[in-house]
Amino acid sequence: MICSEFDIINTYFNYKQQNRNDVNIGIGDDCALINISEKQQLAITTDTLIAGIHFFDTISPEDLAYKSLAVSLSDLAAMGAEPTWISLALTLPNINEEWLERFSFILFKQLNCYGIQLIGGDTTKGPMSLTYTAHGLIPIGESLTRNGACKGDLIYVTGTLGDSAAGLAILKSHLTVNNPNDRHWLIQRHLRPEPKIAQGKMLRNIASSAIDISDGLVSDLSHILKISGHGAIIKLNWLPISSVLSRQVSLKQALISALNGGEDYELCFTVPNINLSILESVIINNKEKFYCIGQITKKSDGIRYFYNDKEISFNLVKFDHFNNNINNIYND
Ligand code: ADP
Ligand code: MG
Repeated sequence: MICSEFDIINTYFNYKQQNRNDVNIGIGDDCALINISEKQQLAITTDTLIAGIHFFDTISPEDLAYKSLAVSLSDLAAMGAEPTWISLALTLPNINEEWLERFSFILFKQLNCYGIQLIGGDTTKGPMSLTYTAHGLIPIGESLTRNGACKGDLIYVTGTLGDSAAGLAILKSHLTVNNPNDRHWLIQRHLRPEPKIAQGKMLRNIASSAIDISDGLVSDLSHILKISGHGAIIKLNWLPISSVLSRQVSLKQALISALNGGEDYELCFTVPNINLSILESVIINNKEKFYCIGQITKKSDGIRYFYNDKEISFNLVKFDHFNNNINNIYND
């Protein structure tokens, strides 16, 4: 029975179609990769955000501009691409000039920061939604893909996990945080994620696989494991938890938030032992902080969780747009 977005894609849209020679990667990764010259590949990704589903109707136009662009650019970051061009299909229920002024001001501020040009789109009337198609360039042979993790590779993430899920829980009144600074910080982590473009580029030629964390660490790491035919161990005590999250929720909530909470838009990547010293020098030269969270193992392991070498069992449900049965960490 078809019951997930991935079932739909695999059953109806990823069947045997005519393959063009210039498509290096089609359906199945964070971006498609197209061979456009002998030196470069074009990375392309499409993302839709719908009012009431992906954002609250009450979101400010500034936050919406910021977040919607970040979501799209995060897929380019996951491939190690340099963002270049974007198109925007915008559906609005009515014309609100103040809203448009504020939205477009932040959109162009962010586009200018990244050196991206808006090259087209579509504007229609209806329930509010935004669809971006983002493009980026990568030197041939240097892209990061979901495929390529090998047994023994170490698993890393680029930043703290679980903050965005806690920020969302605050906005939904499922979590109470009284300290105004902590409350604001967690909500900002949800509304203003930073696409890890610079980090993706640093990891070219170093990471054996990569993905951005949009649906949650376990869901997204599972894509890497499935495509490479491996399992993983995750060291729970190595998961990067922000000091704000750890002082506002229980350890168990923080861990589940880090494993299952979506929309952190950090990168999860794997590194073979042979590249660990290059990774170390990249970390030092760029004053970057990456966090090792576990290791790739054999397929039959699935994902195993350890806390200080003691195995812990978690019954985690993966996020799916068509399945509401996800762990509700903050509303038990
Ligand atoms: P991400 O979370 O990185 O944006 P998704 O999980 O949304 O990726 O999609 C997984 C893969 O399926 C991507 O390669 C995406 O391009 C592809 N995909 C999603 N929907 C469709 C569709 N309707 N037709 C073809 N490909 C699709
Ligand atoms: Mg992605």
